[in-house]
Amino acid sequence: MAELDSLREPDHTGSNRCWPCTLVNACLVVLFVLWLRVRNRRLASLAVATVGVAAIYLRGYVVPYTPQFAPRLVAASPLPNELFHDADVRDPESERESLAETDLDGETVLSELAAAGVVEADGEMLLLTEDVDDAWHEEMAHLSTLSLSALADETRRTLDTVSETDTFTDGAEWVVIDGELVGRPVVVAELAAYRVLDEYVDDESVRLAGAASFRMFLDECPVCETPLAESSEVSCCGGYTKPNQSPDDILVCPACEQRLFTFPSE
Ligand SMILES: [Zn+2]
Repeated sequence: MAELDSLREPDHTGSNRCWPCTLVNACLVVLFVLWLRVRNRRLASLAVATVGVAAIYLRGYVVPYTPQFAPRLVAASPLPNELFHDADVRDPESERESLAETDLDGETVLSELAAAGVVEADGEMLLLTEDVDDAWHEEMAHLSTLSLSALADETRRTLDTVSETDTFTDGAEWVVIDGELVGRPVVVAELAAYRVLDEYVDDESVRLAGAASFRMFLDECPVCETPLAESSEVSCCGGYTKPNQSPDDILVCPACEQRLFTFPSE
């Protein structure tokens, strides 16, 4: 499977798959296959069908520049647009990025963490202090070895704010926290940070919000150790759901297909 994974294009598959692109490509492959059939090119048609379907599956599309034309083509077609944008198996409303939602703003949280000796300034940059960073990575390494259901149990035991946990898998792995989905790598990172902060922070809401802010210091996925990639919320067809706002930059694990951090928009 490693060979297949290296062919995979995470920007256009999984949750980033653009359904207009997929549909237009599938139609073009079918047309090409039929054309070859009509010309009695059986083997060629078989090859085109196989390679075409595999490429659409692995890379999102096979015809070059599809993202530039397919969405407009589909938008101009009589097919209802909702067919592609709202028909997601997973309701994005049920997803959230953090273990706990607090109403503290980022600046307050970071200054509290700085006062507690958790973060320090290094020139323009903010960094975790060395002891905190070491303890956090050690705890993440431990939590990443837990099965998904053990991780869910651990989350419920650790956090008073959580009353019910479950697990959910749809290609990506999620812990269901009081009915909402939180990605496995996010749970590992935040739960580890929450534990480390026990020693440094007394205020529960600062501890929860602080644990969430630790995710911006990640450079690799806490579950699979893949280097994180910067991306943006826009899918390839520009199927962006918040039209009056510019898309946020996000940190993602391409292997787990999970978002690890959303940089606050300016
Ligand atoms: Zn990962």
